[in-house]
Amino acid sequence: MRAFRIMAPLAAATWAEVAEPTPGPGEVVVRVSAVGLCRSDLDMQEMPAAAVEPAGWTFPFTLGHEIAGEVSALGEGVEHPSVGEPVVVLPASSCGKCWYCLHGAENNCSNAGAGRGYGDDGGLADFVLVKNPRDIVPLDGLDPIRAAPLSDAGSTAYHGVDRIRGSLTPESTVVVFGAGGLGSFALQFLRAVSPAFVVSIDMSPDKLAVARELGAHETFEGVNDSTLDQIRELTDGRGADALLDFVGIDQTIATGIAAVRPGGKYGLVGAGGGRLAAPGEWFHMLPRDGEVFTYQGSTVRNLEAVMALARRGMIQSPVEVFSPDDIETAYGKLRDGSLHGRAVIDFSRP
Ligand SMILES: [Zn+2]
Ligand SMILES: [Zn+2]
Repeated sequence: MRAFRIMAPLAAATWAEVAEPTPGPGEVVVRVSAVGLCRSDLDMQEMPAAAVEPAGWTFPFTLGHEIAGEVSALGEGVEHPSVGEPVVVLPASSCGKCWYCLHGAENNCSNAGAGRGYGDDGGLADFVLVKNPRDIVPLDGLDPIRAAPLSDAGSTAYHGVDRIRGSLTPESTVVVFGAGGLGSFALQFLRAVSPAFVVSIDMSPDKLAVARELGAHETFEGVNDSTLDQIRELTDGRGADALLDFVGIDQTIATGIAAVRPGGKYGLVGAGGGRLAAPGEWFHMLPRDGEVFTYQGSTVRNLEAVMALARRGMIQSPVEVFSPDDIETAYGKLRDGSLHGRAVIDFSRP
């Protein structure tokens, strides 16, 4: 079968011919219908071996961690899901046995350093092997093309919203930095599951126009030198009750932490490589009595929640669809920021 693979550290991904996977005991094979592309696919092609091998990555591997498809074969002892069932697959390859998995925190599983499409074979292929059926969630009528991005961009954004939503009231203001894939999902989840006033901030006026369509109450261009004042002005000088940063560069981290009110929460999700440079000043810089957190990925329950919201029509999943032959065009548009919605490869096309 064809598979879009990173053959070695620092090598550009290419199509290659590989054997179709067969499921071992307890495993499942999914015939791929659609795969969402993620900015991290591009980053992975620039990661040296020393950065990723300690996390359990092995080369070569097939890219693609936002997978929707149809169950095609079950290994010995697997009873669910059934062959032919349309499904999405969580990116993290959870073990199902460790303390984190047993406590519903699959994104922190000790196996989660490598997953389908990052260090292990992912879904940009005709078939993908799922070692643990727990990572599979039924589509239940959802369109696989629109559902594929929910498995990572959607579910990861939801994890952040789930972390803060219990503290949100009708008086709350939540700021979302970045209105791309994850940010535009986060603001929709905030509208769907909280009464908060939602502010979206992004450099791109086009993305902010989409953010307003998707439900943002207020939008600002930024993040820039005016951002902090704009947030304070909106909140009677207090600052945001919570801020989710899907960018993660120096300026968004510094501004984001400063823009949170005492007792508020700042969540860093974007892997932009920024740092908060303030030696010796942490005590006065972090939000007083507040919370600063970071995380990667999401849990099976997060993905189930996202799928339920999509089924009920409470969120949208805007996509631009490409055939496998046009994958380089799709990554090019992802790289230069000209996509309208998430890029999805449709494997029913040539
Ligand atoms: Zn991703
Ligand atoms: Zn585990």
